[in-house]
Amino acid sequence: MAWNLAFYARAYKSNIKVYTERKLVLGAGAMGGSGAQGVEAQGVKAAESSALRNVAFDLDAYVRRIRSGSCFVCAVVEGKPGYDLEQIVYEDEQHIAFLDRYPTMPGKVLVAPKTHVEHVVRDLDEDAYLRLMTIVRRIALAVEQVVPSERTYLLTLGSQQGNSHLHWHIVALPPETPYEQQQYHALMTENGVIPWTLEQAVTLAHQLRTALARRR
Ligand SMILES: [Zn+2]
Repeated sequence: MAWNLAFYARAYKSNIKVYTERKLVLGAGAMGGSGAQGVEAQGVKAAESSALRNVAFDLDAYVRRIRSGSCFVCAVVEGKPGYDLEQIVYEDEQHIAFLDRYPTMPGKVLVAPKTHVEHVVRDLDEDAYLRLMTIVRRIALAVEQVVPSERTYLLTLGSQQGNSHLHWHIVALPPETPYEQQQYHALMTENGVIPWTLEQAVTLAHQLRTALARRR
């Protein structure tokens, strides 16, 4: 099913349902779902079935992968196989922007320098820092054109013990998100990720690229 606002609204509603259930976290295993109806059905079933509450985002496996595997940003830059969900939204000689594989909110995009640098300020001179932030701003504005949002969160975290390649997160907060589900709650995979399909990721990336091209 094509990415559109109706799908977005249903998927988000479903995710809110997931949040409400608290214990249920949809994860990578559900990513091959059957589009909006599948997502919604999972949400409905989730509310009714305690069995599904164990369909968890596998945080332990994620941490193992991040801490022992090679750099995922470099892998996307190099075009390694297995990173299809990280659809590239923008790239130039020095920067890359791609969809988050584990989006906690619809339309979540990561922006990074292509070079493996780690420290957000020490590893970039002022010009490089400002160029990166210009790209972050440009892409955030494109995200706001594509997914409904009442506020945009920008943050960079990472760890020297895994996930060390500097990257910024761009997160559009959907309108009417309850206060207690905003801010850090909206950003933590522990609170649920949206099981987008590859088809939806491809469509969303196309929409974001189109919005970016219109802004030039
Ligand atoms: Zn890297």
